[in-house]
Amino acid sequence: KSGFISIIGRPNVGKSTFMNKVLGQKVAIMSDKPQTTRNKIQGVYTTEQSQMIFIDTPGIHKPKHQLGEHMMKVARNTLRETEVILFIVNVAEEIGRGDEFIIEMLEHTSTPIVLVLNKIDLVHPDDLIKQIEVYKDKLNFSEIVPISALQGNNVDKLVEVIESYL
Ligand code: GDP
Ligand code: MG
Repeated sequence: KSGFISIIGRPNVGKSTFMNKVLGQKVAIMSDKPQTTRNKIQGVYTTEQSQMIFIDTPGIHKPKHQLGEHMMKVARNTLRETEVILFIVNVAEEIGRGDEFIIEMLEHTSTPIVLVLNKIDLVHPDDLIKQIEVYKDKLNFSEIVPISALQGNNVDKLVEVIESYL
């Protein structure tokens, strides 16, 4: 099994930390250069069963008013063309404008969306449950997976979830 995974989320939610945790020494490609005009390969993770190609989606992190029609289309096309979308948020913070903007972008996307609640090491379990309730109402996520990218909690579970969508 092989497939592309879009990683999206506002700055500082832990996207890079997650990538580093998953890829570890298995990094095949780590490049800041755009591979094409529409996306940027962050890394490739290969196991016996599967190959996961993680890509960054330029444009999706920008506030809506700064995005032209064309950029919006490019971002949407990229999201459509990947097998899974990983939407990473910081569970230790209230949902913010940046998150809401991304959620708006994700509406009407047929690609499975996995909501990753990162930084669970910073929240009380009761607050984690509250956050799950908040996000659940915002969009019809395929899965909601709480992790700590920094400490590595549940990261292997998230990899399994991704694998199941390839
Ligand atoms: P990015 O901008 O989304 O790529 O975010 P980074 O991966 O650069 O992380 C931003 C900050 O959050 C860094 O200081 C990380 O160490 C921290 N961070 C990332 N994941 C976690 C986590 O699971 N728990 C905690 N406590 N901090 C985290
Ligand atoms: Mg980063």
